[in-house]
Amino acid sequence: MGLVLGIYSDPKLASEAEGVADGLCKLFPRLTVMLLGERAVPAAAWDTFLAQYDAFGILGLMAEPQESAAVLWLVEGDLGDSRHRGLFGAAQGRRAVVSAARLPDAGALVKEAGHEVGHMLGLGHCSGACLMRPAKTAGEVQSKAGAFCPACSEEINRATGEQG
Ligand SMILES: [Zn+2]
Ligand SMILES: [Zn+2]
Repeated sequence: MGLVLGIYSDPKLASEAEGVADGLCKLFPRLTVMLLGERAVPAAAWDTFLAQYDAFGILGLMAEPQESAAVLWLVEGDLGDSRHRGLFGAAQGRRAVVSAARLPDAGALVKEAGHEVGHMLGLGHCSGACLMRPAKTAGEVQSKAGAFCPACSEEINRATGEQG
């Protein structure tokens, strides 16, 4: 039994969620991806001082999943933390959140979702032509590769495969 990734989506992103699930299936062939349905972000996660949703506040609303599972929440609102404005996403353990607020299109949303799932599988940032290359702007998301480099692919296979 491999790793199962469940995806929650903000009600406003219900139509995008399926495309993200499809994209993640292609990026992570050994991962079982399932849609968990709509889940709205509670107003309490809004940081009135920073005028954005607190990324780690949202991660804190999700229970750490069982050992063979990971969970991703697609949100519509702008995301950040005390040091960053406009984060595209964040991951902690096997929980991740991705915001569509600053991403230009569905393809960019799949890229950043794939990047955060990469973090959940234990990957760090990569300087190659790779989805694990960090992006600070929407332009950087659009110009970076839409797939993982050979080294990161190998790490993903190790993290999601049975053996070897
Ligand atoms: Zn990253
Ligand atoms: Zn890489």
